[in-house]
Amino acid sequence: MTYAIEGTTGPWEVVVGLEVHAQVTSNAKLFSGAATAFGAEPNSQVSFVDAAFPGMLPVINGECVAQAVRTGLGLNARINPVSRFDRKNYFYADLPAGYQISQYEHPIVGTGMVEVELADGTTKMIGITRLHLEQDAGKSLHDQHPAKSFIDLNRAGVALMEIVSEPDIRGPEEAGAYIRKLRSILRYLGTCDGNMEEGSLRADVNVSVRKINELYRTRCEIKNLNSVRFIMQAIEAEARRQVEVWEAGGTVMQETRLFDSGRNLTRSMRSKEDAHDYRYFPDPDLLPLVLEEDWIAALKASLPELPDAKRARFIQMYGLSPYDAAVLVAEKATADYYETVARGRDPKIAANWVTGDFFAALNRLGRSIDDPPVTAAALGGLLDLMADNTINGRIAKDVFEAMLETGQDAATIVDERGLRQVTDTGAIDAAVDRILAANPGKVAEYRSGKDKLFGFFVGQTMKAMAGKGNPGLINAVLKQRLDAQKE
Ligand code: MN
Repeated sequence: MTYAIEGTTGPWEVVVGLEVHAQVTSNAKLFSGAATAFGAEPNSQVSFVDAAFPGMLPVINGECVAQAVRTGLGLNARINPVSRFDRKNYFYADLPAGYQISQYEHPIVGTGMVEVELADGTTKMIGITRLHLEQDAGKSLHDQHPAKSFIDLNRAGVALMEIVSEPDIRGPEEAGAYIRKLRSILRYLGTCDGNMEEGSLRADVNVSVRKINELYRTRCEIKNLNSVRFIMQAIEAEARRQVEVWEAGGTVMQETRLFDSGRNLTRSMRSKEDAHDYRYFPDPDLLPLVLEEDWIAALKASLPELPDAKRARFIQMYGLSPYDAAVLVAEKATADYYETVARGRDPKIAANWVTGDFFAALNRLGRSIDDPPVTAAALGGLLDLMADNTINGRIAKDVFEAMLETGQDAATIVDERGLRQVTDTGAIDAAVDRILAANPGKVAEYRSGKDKLFGFFVGQTMKAMAGKGNPGLINAVLKQRLDAQKE
């Protein structure tokens, strides 16, 4: 057990299962032709079906079904050839029909598996219980008017995939790794944009605690978390609360709770409802969904290379460490960028530059991989100048900074600023002469056995040559000159 909460009675294991709602990438809603663009004028993307006008009939959107199947395949899950839509009845002001069309007993996707990479370099398999299709509700706006609430139905009827995990997750770190991996897979598949700020991906978190080797204790559900950080913080806060309750001799009650990120605690929202409270029944307006084997096979054949496969390929093909490979494949755009840089070049040097200086520049400049400050081709050009000894590694860092500032390519900067590496041994000899003559004391110390001073002479010579000396040649000349008269 790697993660535990230390209580007064000893360690507690934290058991977590996630229910993720992922908005399906689709131009139209699950049962209507209304548009789904984010940020549109309120109530401008609402059909009579979405507004639940009497007599309107839902018509299934085939693309949403295909997206759910693609996602199931990407999660290594069983695709159910027959699934069914049910009505989940409840009242809410932004749910005009008084029920949500969802899938209860017969979801479109069954059990699956996701492999997550943990910080210590190990991996863990997290089971997927199911994935079902359902409609989103509208939105109540409480901040537009002092006394009134407004309803925006643009989101009403938008297709969601509810992806339920097994309670295989132990603690916040694993939950964070799971949601990141899930998001990565969805984005590779193009089935959900994974934008948590816009609410395209949000999670309900089920948390319980237990002593080692115990059965599960009562869980609580924390609703509607919309960032990886909040998911992790909510799990930590809720688990600590439950440990305190149990250790004080109390009982954790099954309920739905909300996370208050400002105060870093969860508070009670309502006692947990059971499935029978919703009076699920098959939606009489919709036939069971029957999928043909050939159609599923065609979707499977058209799936892109997914993160796990890409990671394995990067390790095998480019000789990268599992860690570097995982970092590079997390976003498809990053993986593509890396491969452009690595093509025909040293793949490890390419990986170091992309995950090192390039990522640091993205962070510092607040840029994304989709809008890089230096193109992959331009970074490749810089690496070429190092590979053919036009510049050394030290100068390359400066050239990269100049590329960020000016947008010029590496060769132009090197030419204009006279940064070519000096490989003329006459010039290096002259610089070494000057340094040795200027530091007779240090020379004597070195020759009497203080080997560590060698680095000092290298540094001084490089400095005398404005950083442009060839490091290999400087080392060789210094070694020869210093060691010649060594006692
Ligand atoms: Mn749901």
